[in-house]
Amino acid sequence: MRWEDFRTSTNVEDRRGMGIPGGRGGLGIGTIVILGLLGWALGIDPRLLIGGAEMMQRGGFQQEQQEGRRGAPTDEMGRFAANILGNTEDVWSKVLPAQANRQYDPPKLVLFSGQTQSGCGFAQSAMGPFYCPLDKSVYVDLSFFEDMRRRFGAGGDFAYAYVIAHEVGHHVENELGILPRVQQRQREVDQRQANQLSVRVELMADCLAGVWAHNSEQRYQSLEKGDIEEAINAAQAIGDDRLQRQTSGRVVPDSFTHGSSQQRVQWLTRGLESGQISSCDTFRAERL
Ligand SMILES: [Zn+2]
Repeated sequence: MRWEDFRTSTNVEDRRGMGIPGGRGGLGIGTIVILGLLGWALGIDPRLLIGGAEMMQRGGFQQEQQEGRRGAPTDEMGRFAANILGNTEDVWSKVLPAQANRQYDPPKLVLFSGQTQSGCGFAQSAMGPFYCPLDKSVYVDLSFFEDMRRRFGAGGDFAYAYVIAHEVGHHVENELGILPRVQQRQREVDQRQANQLSVRVELMADCLAGVWAHNSEQRYQSLEKGDIEEAINAAQAIGDDRLQRQTSGRVVPDSFTHGSSQQRVQWLTRGLESGQISSCDTFRAERL
């Protein structure tokens, strides 16, 4: 993917190399315990991740917000992330008005290393990239891409772009009012049904990543040979069944929150081929 030509987003906050205010762990002083408990009691986690929910740690909400460096990163991976984000802004600000009759208000991208505070609680890189609807921000530790390549054999710039576009897809779901409705519904049902709703949210984000790629290609022709295969390979590698098999040796479909490898590939492909938001309605689909 020829990403060097993309416009660099100005909505990037660079917190790499910064610690957590209040010391290591960040869950001590300043944690608003009530909110954390509330989230726990309701059984919801407001964070939406790219994969591997079982690796994640539940955090509290913290009052203190960190401020990172503003402005374009200068290192290659930082520039890559800022350019992909810039391209999602250029594409979605055209696609959303045209297909959903509404303006696009872009999310912020927070780059961090190790751990940081998000509007949805304490974040650790082990959780993988995620979107927090409460502060409308995508959080990425860029070392995740190195993990994808080494541990999951899912490297390549378009594979990494798909990860960022998936998180931006959650932001689009939020802008469309889908996330608040689903989270409301999740509070009313049991864990198994709540997981099934999560799967629909995740597969829709995969499909919306495909819609971005389709429309980006139409306008900028930046894809190169093998790019699509890279993204498909990545979607396959971070399906719940694969991750569960890797971490526990077993596959437990009821505990899926992101969808199986096959489902992720299928919905990503749908968006890629159609370029239409309407093709991503996982809530209308009888079979996922
Ligand atoms: Zn997700």
